[in-house]
Amino acid sequence: MTFLLGSPERPLRVAIIGSGPSGFYAAEALLAATIKIEVDLYDRLPAPFGLVRYGVAPDHPKIKNVIKVYEKTANHPQFAFLGNVMAGKDISVPELQRFYDAIIFTCGAQTDRALGIPGEDLSGSTTATEFVAWYNGHPEYRDRKFDLSQEAAVIIGQGNVAMDVGRILSKTVDELKTTDIAQHALEVLAESKVKEVHLIGRRGPVQAAFTPPEIKEFGGLKDCDPVLDPAYLNLNPESQIELEDPNGAVRRRNWEVLKEFASRPTPTKRKRFVIHFCKGPKELRGNGRVEKVILEKNKLVGSPGAQQAVGTGEMEELACGIFFRSVGYRGVPIPGVPFDPKKGIFPNVGGRILGDDGKALPGLYASGWIKRGPSGVIGTNKPDSVETVNNLLSDVSHLCECPMPQRAAVMDFLKQKHVRFVSFEDWRKIDSAEMERGKPLGKPREKFIKVEEMLAVLG
Ligand code: NAP
Repeated sequence: MTFLLGSPERPLRVAIIGSGPSGFYAAEALLAATIKIEVDLYDRLPAPFGLVRYGVAPDHPKIKNVIKVYEKTANHPQFAFLGNVMAGKDISVPELQRFYDAIIFTCGAQTDRALGIPGEDLSGSTTATEFVAWYNGHPEYRDRKFDLSQEAAVIIGQGNVAMDVGRILSKTVDELKTTDIAQHALEVLAESKVKEVHLIGRRGPVQAAFTPPEIKEFGGLKDCDPVLDPAYLNLNPESQIELEDPNGAVRRRNWEVLKEFASRPTPTKRKRFVIHFCKGPKELRGNGRVEKVILEKNKLVGSPGAQQAVGTGEMEELACGIFFRSVGYRGVPIPGVPFDPKKGIFPNVGGRILGDDGKALPGLYASGWIKRGPSGVIGTNKPDSVETVNNLLSDVSHLCECPMPQRAAVMDFLKQKHVRFVSFEDWRKIDSAEMERGKPLGKPREKFIKVEEMLAVLG
C-alpha cells in the first residue's frame, strides 16, 4: 500500500543544509505547513545558528535574541538537528537523496570576495570575514593571527561588516570584556597598538552601505573619536537628489550622523576612526608586509540611484600596518549542486535550483545568501525562506520519493560512517557548559573554539 507524500503515514522528508537564520526560517515554514513534514537540519559544526553565533558582533547581543525563536522551532516534535555533519563530505548529495524527498541548501556565503589588486597577498593584508570569525571563536579560524602591533589599520568597504570590524578595533578592552567575544581575541586586542582605523568607501556619503545605528555608535566610543573631513559632504547634484528622495530615510539618517561627526572639534581621544569617501584601493606596498595602501580618488558617474565610482587618476598614499578588505561575502560550491561562480550562489529561480539546461532540478532548493547573495539583515531571510518553502510545497506532487524515508535510517548511515552527529539535546549541554565557562569571566558565555572540546562535553 502506498501513501501520499505528506500524509501522517508517509511524512515528507526534508533535509536543510546550514543552520543559520535562513535554515531555521525554512524549518519553521515547513513545520507550519498543512501536510506532515519531518525536517532534519544539518550543520557542519556541532553548534547551530550560523552567522548569529559566528558573525553577529559580540557587542551587539540583542541581535542574538532571535535564537529564542529558533529554539522554539527546534522543540517541534518533527524537527531534528544533525550538527557536526558536513554535507558534500560526511554525506554526499546523492546519499542525502536516498533519505530525503527534498533538500534545501541554506549554507550561506562562507568566504569573501577579493579586490584583485597588486600586493593583496602581502602579510598583514587580511579579510573582514576571517577577522569576524576569529573574534567570534569559530573553530576553523581560531588559529588565525592578526598583527595588531601596528598603529594604522585600513578597512576597504563601508557595509555593516566593515562597521563591526572597525568598532572591534576601536573599542577598549573594557567595552568588550563582558561580551561573548572569544578570549583569545580579547587578549590580542588588549595588546593592540592600533590608534587609527581608516574606513574607505569607493563612493560618497549618500551611497554608503552602513546603516544609521551602526555609524552612530562611533560617536559614543570610550576612547575613540570619529573623524570626517567636512569637504566630503559637498555633494554632486545627483547625490543631492538621492539624499532628498522620499525613499531615502536611511540615507538621510546616515547623513545627519556624518554631519555631526564633521562638525566635531579636534579629536582628543587615544584612537581615531577616520572616514574617507570616494577613494578606491589600487595597490598595497611594503617590504615583506603591508606598509601602505595606494588609493585613487574617485568621482561619481551616472544618474541618481545608479552612480558608479570612476577613478580620476589622482593617487594618494596612506600608511597601513594592517589591511582588511570588507567588500562582501561569497558562497562556496557543494559537490553535486550547480554553482554560479560569477555570483557565488546556487543558480535558482524562487529557490528552485536550476540545472545546466536552465530547468529546475527536482527536489533541490536554496534559501538565504546562497540563493540571493550576501545581502540584507537577519530578518530578510524569513520571507526569502518562506518563498522557497512555498515553491517546494507546490512541487510536492512532482518530487521523486526517496527510498529510505526513516530518520533512523540516515542516523544509522552516519553512525556506520563514524560521523558523530550532534542532536539539539546535545547542543543544549554544550550551550550550558559554555555559559558556565563564561560566569567567572563575567561574560554571557565563553565559546568552545575547538570541535573536540564541544564533543568532550558530551562524553
Ligand atoms: P555590503 O553591505 O554589501 O557592503 C559591501 C561594501 O563593500 C560596500 O561599501 C561596497 O561599496 C564595497 N565594495 C564592494 N566591492 C568593492 C570594491 N571592489 N572596492 C571597494 N569597495 C567595494 O556587505 P557586508 O558589509 O559584507 O554585509 C553583508 C550584509 O550583512 C549586509 O546586508 C549587511 O547590512 C548585513 N550585516 C548587518 C549587520 C547589522 O545589522 N548590524 C552587521 C553585519 C552585516 P558599493 O556600495 O560601492 O558597492
